[in-house]
Formats: sequence, C-alpha cells, structure tokens
Amino acid sequence: MEQFTPLMRQYHQLKSQHPDAILLFRVGDFYEMFGDDAILGAKLLKLTLTKKHVGKDQTVPLAGVPHHAVNAYLARLIKQGCKVAICEQMEDPKFAKGVVKRQIVRVVTPGTVLEGSLLDEKINNYLIAINPKFDANRIQIGFAIADLSTGEFLVTEFTDTPDLIKLKTELERLSPRECLLPDSLSKQSPMFGLCSQQPALTVYPYQEYQFAYDTAYPKLTAHFQTTTLKGFGCESLQLAVGSAGAILAYLKDTQKTELSHITSIRTYSTEEYLILDATTSQNLELFYTQREKSKSGSLLGVIDETITAMGGRKLRHWLSQPLLNIEKIKERQHGVHFFYHDHTLRRNLRELLDNIYDLERLLGKIGCGVANARDVLSLKKSLDIVPDINKVLTQCIPRKNIGIDESPPSLLQQTINSLDDIPELRDLIHRAIVDDPPLSVKEGGLIKDNYFPPLDELREISRGGKNWVAQLEARERERTGIKSLKVKFNNVFGYYIEVTKPNLAFVPADYERKQTTANAERFTTPELKEWESKILGAEEKMVEMEYQLFSEIREKVIAQTKRIQQTADALALLDVLSTLAEVAVRYDYCLPELTEEPIIEIKDGRHPVIERFLPEQQFVPNDTYIDTNENRLLLITGPNMAGKSTYIRQVALISLLGQIGSYVPAKSAKLGLVDRIFTRVGAADNLLRGESTFMVEMNETANILHNATSRSLLILDEIGRGTSTFDGLSIAWAVAEYIHDMVHARTLFATHYHELTQLASVLAGMKNYNVAVREWNEKVIFLHKIVPGPCDKSYGIAVARLAGLPLSVIQRAKEVLFDLEKYSRTAKEELAATHPEVGTKSPQPEMVSGIQLSFFDFVSHPVVDELKSLDLSNLTPLQALQKLQELQEKIKHKP
Ligand code: ADP
Ligand code: MG
Repeated sequence: MEQFTPLMRQYHQLKSQHPDAILLFRVGDFYEMFGDDAILGAKLLKLTLTKKHVGKDQTVPLAGVPHHAVNAYLARLIKQGCKVAICEQMEDPKFAKGVVKRQIVRVVTPGTVLEGSLLDEKINNYLIAINPKFDANRIQIGFAIADLSTGEFLVTEFTDTPDLIKLKTELERLSPRECLLPDSLSKQSPMFGLCSQQPALTVYPYQEYQFAYDTAYPKLTAHFQTTTLKGFGCESLQLAVGSAGAILAYLKDTQKTELSHITSIRTYSTEEYLILDATTSQNLELFYTQREKSKSGSLLGVIDETITAMGGRKLRHWLSQPLLNIEKIKERQHGVHFFYHDHTLRRNLRELLDNIYDLERLLGKIGCGVANARDVLSLKKSLDIVPDINKVLTQCIPRKNIGIDESPPSLLQQTINSLDDIPELRDLIHRAIVDDPPLSVKEGGLIKDNYFPPLDELREISRGGKNWVAQLEARERERTGIKSLKVKFNNVFGYYIEVTKPNLAFVPADYERKQTTANAERFTTPELKEWESKILGAEEKMVEMEYQLFSEIREKVIAQTKRIQQTADALALLDVLSTLAEVAVRYDYCLPELTEEPIIEIKDGRHPVIERFLPEQQFVPNDTYIDTNENRLLLITGPNMAGKSTYIRQVALISLLGQIGSYVPAKSAKLGLVDRIFTRVGAADNLLRGESTFMVEMNETANILHNATSRSLLILDEIGRGTSTFDGLSIAWAVAEYIHDMVHARTLFATHYHELTQLASVLAGMKNYNVAVREWNEKVIFLHKIVPGPCDKSYGIAVARLAGLPLSVIQRAKEVLFDLEKYSRTAKEELAATHPEVGTKSPQPEMVSGIQLSFFDFVSHPVVDELKSLDLSNLTPLQALQKLQELQEKIKHKP
C-alpha cells in the first residue's frame, strides 16, 4: 500500500468492500475503472484501455466513462450479468483538504436495478434466495423473493423431490434475474446446476451465516420494527426465514439505505394456487411463445390490455398463480362483471388510469434514495387523479347493483376503501416542487419560491448580486471610459473585470491584477471581492438548502409509504378487473359458472390466441364435456393439421382463465375447479428443445403419473411419438390405461395413433372423438369440428397432396400403402395365431390394422420379437412402461 498515491490507497480500501463488483470510481467528470476491472470493463463496454500512473514508475490499466453517460454503460454491464459498485465524491473537490472524500453509494446487480431503462415496466424484477436442507431423499427448501424496484417481498417453504420439480416450477413462474445461494453449497450440486441453467439468471453464492435462522430472525424484526414474525405468518418456517434474512442482508449491503419501501413480508404456499409446472406454462404459451419467445402470440399477450405498469404486473401474476378457492375467484368475477356491464364507467376509469405513473416503482426509487424531484412530482400527479377515480366509482355503485347473486361487488368496495389520495402530501409537493424540475437534486432549481422564506432570502441576495454586477459594469465603464470593459464570471477565478490590451492604460490604480490572457488582463477590486463572496456564498447555500428541503419532502413521502402502496395496489386491481372486462366485451367472452363438481362443460369454446390470429369468424368453436366418470378420458384422433392440439389446449386455457377470475372464450362454460394442469407434448412435436427428447418426454410423463390427482386436468398431445411406432403406441396405450384406472384425472389425449381408439371398448371412462374432415375432389377439407367417435383414416397422403407433393409421388405412395396394408394384415394374423397369450386388454392384432403402424411394426429384430411376446396384462402400467423403456434402451444399443 505504501508505494501507492493517496488516491490509489483510497481506491483499494473501497474496492476491498466489494471485491466481486466492478468499481466505478468517480474522479471529476469521469467514472474510472482500474486494474482488472478496467480490463474487463474495457472489453465489455468496448472502451479504450489506457494506463494510470500510481506512484513511482508504476502504472495500472485504466478505462473510464463520462459521468453523464454512466447509466447507459451501467445498463450494458448489468445486462452482461455484472455487479457494479458506484463510488461517488462525497464533497466538492474545490473545498476538499487532501484527497476528496469518496464512498460507495450503491452496488447495482441484475436483481437490484432501479433504472427504468433496465426494467421491463410490466414485468417484476425478482431477486430470490434459496435455502436448502438435504434429508435422506427429499429436500426442504426455504425460498424468498424480492422485487427491490417495487418493494414486494415474499417467502415460502416447500419439500421438493431430488429432481427439484417444484423449484423448477417456481423459477419458471418468476423468471428471476438474480439468485442467492449459500456459499457452502457445492457448484456441482444439482441445485446450483438448475439455477445456472435458467436463462438470464445470475447466481451469487452468498455468506452461509446470513441464511441461518438466528442471524435472519433479528434482522427481519429489526427492519419491520416488530418483536416477532408471527404477524407475517413465517414465524416457525426456519428455512424460509433464513432465505428472507439473506435477501434483506444482501439488499442492505448493496443499497446502503433503509429500504423504507419494503414494508412487510408475505408468506405464501404453493398449495394455495393452481400448479402450472414449467413445461406446462411453456407448452400452453402462457407468457411467451415457444418459438420466438415473444409476448405477442402468448395468452398474456392477447389478454393484456392493462393501462398501467402496475396493472400489467398484477395480471401477469394472476396468470402465473390461478386460484383454487372458489369464493376468492368469485370475488374477482364480481369485479370483472361489474365493469363488463357498465361501459361508461369502464371507459371513464380507464381514461383516468392512463394518467397514473408507476407508483410502486416510484416508491422503490424513493426508498432507495435514488429518486429525483421529477419522481416526486410524478407521484403527486398520480395521487391527483385518485379523487376523480373515486368519484367515478362511487357514483356508479349505488346506481348499479348488478353483482352476480345480487350481492354488491365486495372486492370493488374494498378497493374503493383503500384508495387514498393523501391530500396533505399532494399539497406539500404542490407547494414545494417546481413544475419542471431538473434531473439533478444537487444543483438547485427544484424548490418553488414562497415555499421556504430563508431560501427566498438567499435567492434575493443572489439575484440582487447579479443586478449589482450589472450596475458595477456600467459604473466602471463610466469611471474609466473603457467602453469594452466587462464584469465576468468563471468557475476557476470567480468574478473579475476584464480589460482588453489596448485599453490597459486607462485602468485605475485600485484595480488588482488577477490573471493575464492573450488579449486581455483580468482585475478585481475590494468591492467586487466582497460581493463575490456574498453571491457565491448565497448560491452555495441555496443549493445545499434546496437539497435539504428535498430530503425533507422525501422523508414525508417515505412516512406515507404504506398508504401509497395500498393505493397503488388498489389502482392495479382496478386496472386488471377493467382489463378483463374490456377483453371480454371486445372478444365476446362469457362469464363461466364455477363449481366444485369435477366436470368441465363448455359450449362453443374457442382458443383465445389462435382465434385472434385467424381472419374474423374463421375459428370453428367446439363443445367439451368431461368429468371424472364415464367421460374422464377423451381421446381425440384425426389427421395432421385437423385441429387436435388447438382443441385440447383451448380446454386448458379456458379452465385457467376461469380460475384467475376472467371471462372465457366460449358461449357458456361450467368449470369444475382443477388443482393442477399438466400439459405434455410428444417429443416429435417439440423439436425446439433440442434435448434427448424422448427421454425428456418419458420423464415428464412419469412426473404426471406420480403427481396428478383426480382434480387435475391433463393435456396429452401425441405422447409416445418420440420413438418408433410400435413402442410409441404401446407407451401411449399403457399411459392412457394408467391414467384411466389409477389417476382418474380429467384427461384430453390427442393422438394420430388411431389404433388407440380401440381402448374405448375396454376403458369404461374413455370416449372417442375425432376432428371432422371431408374429402372433396381428392382433397382434404379440414372442418376443425370435434365430433364423437373414432377417426377412421389417417389422411397422411391427402395432406401430402395438400402440401404440393408432385402427383406422381402421391400416386406411388398410394400403391405402396395398399401393399403395406395387405402385408401387415397377413403378418398380424400370423401373430395372433402364434401368440394367443397376448392379454385381452392389450391391442389385439385384428384391432391393430392402422396405416401408421404398418410402416414399421414387423421389422425382424430380436428386441421386436421380445416386444411382441410381452404380456403386459400381468404388469402394472408403470411396470409395463419400465419394461418398454428397457427394451427401448436395448434397441438403441443393438440397432
Ligand atoms: P393438429 O394438432 O391436429 O395437427 P393443430 O391443432 O395444430 O392440428 O391445428 C392446425 C391449424 O389448424 C392451426 O394452426 C389453425 O390454423 C387451424 N385450426 C385449428 N383448430 C381450428 C379451429 N377450431 N378453427 C379454425 N382453425 C383451426
Ligand atoms: Mg398437433
């Protein structure tokens, strides 16, 4: 250290506080990076790398960015997953004695950004902490979530399987940006692996002791100023409390402020919500499309007509956690229903909401000490709208009592009650802050006249001083006869009288020389000196005073944080309810009837996304009836492109929309609540994932068979497709049987294996449906209509014709098909004769006469022979599945 300059000593001292962050070290008008930070920063930001002298004959790498552009550079570093410590000068270099005082004011990380340019306004920016405890073969997980930008803070605890299915589901649901794991956790552990694989998630090992209950508990109670955590519902959840404590410690460590906007912590349980695992939410394209990863084209994309950012985030949250409690869903329905019927009210409300800024994030900036006067003014402007909103709503409520069941919409009433415009705060800000304040809060010009008399006095002096300078100039011109004499000011020399060279002879004796330039001399006088110190003193004091006044206003806002947060939440709710109503009116949705009965009955249901992307009126609506008795397994067959996938997904989407409290795209719907929705798509339909797809498909199928309950809804699309036809069909068959016999879940199963339709003769709860197709002039016309009964043909060749294959190819394909079918039938008859032991519940040879099967099933291969002689009837479906998988492996190794 000794050999360094004092500046570098200071630098190293600060750097050691956050060794894992890039330190942006403020020097005058620049933020500088030194050493390894400079090398990395220059590379990531494409800056020129230079050298800085740091003592006798020593240099270090140096790179810098101008202070006014720092946000853009910061954004780029954060996007690349860096942590950045910002060090500011804490005093004016002009008045510093020795090295300017510096301090790290904030550490910015991907999960703690507050800059608008780095945030998506309708998406929360989550930081999470995971606190695992490993037992024999289960893992207990404490899980905390915080959005620093809005103040949201949540915690939960759950037991997970070794493959971390639940954790994966939460990660998929939240898409967090940053994750804290105890630093004792090995980088080889599956948990570390899972987190590292999440897109755009930065993982930070954080000190293990911060996750300890005994460390965390007092930190949390001190922050919330309570004696226990009982009020937050997490008192006894040791691991959860540990994870929350780690997040709080990390936030305080990086933000270096009180975090006044984090006012409480909410305990939630994943059991309270309809579970949508990661694969399901991807397959149903709830938040973004699978191919382009874009929001438009997703379910959220077509229902998100929210006006405010807060509403946008709330709707997203609702969709990620549909409810299971019928009363709570009905409360939301009441609210939507109310806005659905009153068009004027809806329009007026939504016009007013358009003037509301993001109150939650404004409070976040204020709580973290990075808000400026514009932010405070935006907050006030938003609160100004609240009385109007209140008026619009209360005028309507007595006039319209149109709640479902005749009851008034209680959720709405609660919402209105929590709207609070905080008049005293609005008034304060109105009196204090100028209409168009500057970006900086440290350069003055943000407080109005007549707000604080001492400030007015200083302003008077400063203004008077400037007048006085003008008078002085006139007087001195007169006295000296120098017409070009000027009184000027600059930052280095202060005020001076400038006389050009040719006029120097006329300068009076009382002028003191200050400085010589090329064409002129600069002077001062005792009188000017005295005024100079008065004016400069006043200006300096003014800036300081304005900052003080601003800080006081900030404190007053902070004191009202809870009231503002409540109002913000109420506004977000109004936005979401009126949005769902708006969508329902605009796209002709109906109000579903919710029931605890395990049925789903839909009349003229539509796929909410596909229908939007087809020309008007072209979407063919379809009915659905499904229960847990005779109609618990619906098998949908039909050729490619008929509309099978669309149909089964639309049932899932309608259920899901129903359980967030929304209207649904149908003529009528009676929805029995579901506890989980599972959606699985056969591997061949899911080439995008690029994993060993068949294995993934089987893992996922196993997951369904283990976790689905009789209240679940299962959407299975072309299961078994990722392997050869014979075992693919066998797996599909066994899976269908197992679900039917053991799980009893409501299931929609789409397949092009029309051989499966024969299952209906042995499974009492299964019904066959197919998608109607007409042939006309040797062409296939897709009617997209779901009709009872099995599909009789595959139409593969007709589809090929549709795709424009040359006629000769089509012709030849027909001949080949004919031969194959003939051959296949003979082979099967032989099999039936030689293997009478094949179980009655398994596909019977004479039943299996399909076209798809006939292409592959009778290849000669020892494993295929083994398959043929398999008696599945003595095995449980899961054992059968296992057996089939073993054989599958064998085929792989002995091709
Ligand atoms: P499958 O799964 O049977 O191969 P899809 O469900 O993928 O077929 O549907 C193929 C296409 O058919 C869809 O992209 C859509 O354009 C159209 N389609 C599906 N269902 C309907 C419908 N009910 N009304 C109108 N068009 C439909
Ligand atoms: Mg399909």
